Amino acid sequence: MHCPIRHCAACCAGPRVADEVVLTTLAPIDIATDRCKGCGLCVDECPKHVLELDEMVVNALGYHPVQLTDAAGCTSCAICARICPDTVFTIYAPVKGARA
Ligand code: SF4
Ligand code: SF4
Repeated sequence: MHCPIRHCAACCAGPRVADEVVLTTLAPIDIATDRCKGCGLCVDECPKHVLELDEMVVNALGYHPVQLTDAAGCTSCAICARICPDTVFTIYAPVKGARA
C-alpha cells in the first residue's frame, strides 16, 4: 500500500513502504495478559524458550502473567496456544520469509 496521498501514489515507483513497516512490526503472537493465571505451562512447553512469567507485573487476577521475551525467536508454532487452558494466546501466521 502506498501512502494515502493520491498524487504521490500515482507517480511513486519506490518500495511499498507502508506494507513493509507493518510486516516487520507485527508481533507473532498476542498475549491477553489479563486472563493469564501464571501456571507456567506454556513457558515449559515453548520449544524456542521465548516465554517467561513477568515477575515485575501482577495482573488483575493476582498472577505474574506470561510475556514473550524474544519476538524474533517465536516461530508461531502455536504450542503455547494449544497448552494454555485459558485461551490467552492469539497466534498470527508467520510472514513468509520473515522468520526461519
Ligand atoms: S508460538 Fe511457539 S515459539 Fe512462539 S511463543 Fe508460542 S510456543 Fe513459543
Ligand atoms: S499456560 Fe496460559 S494461563 Fe498458564 S502461564 Fe501460560 S498463558 Fe498463562
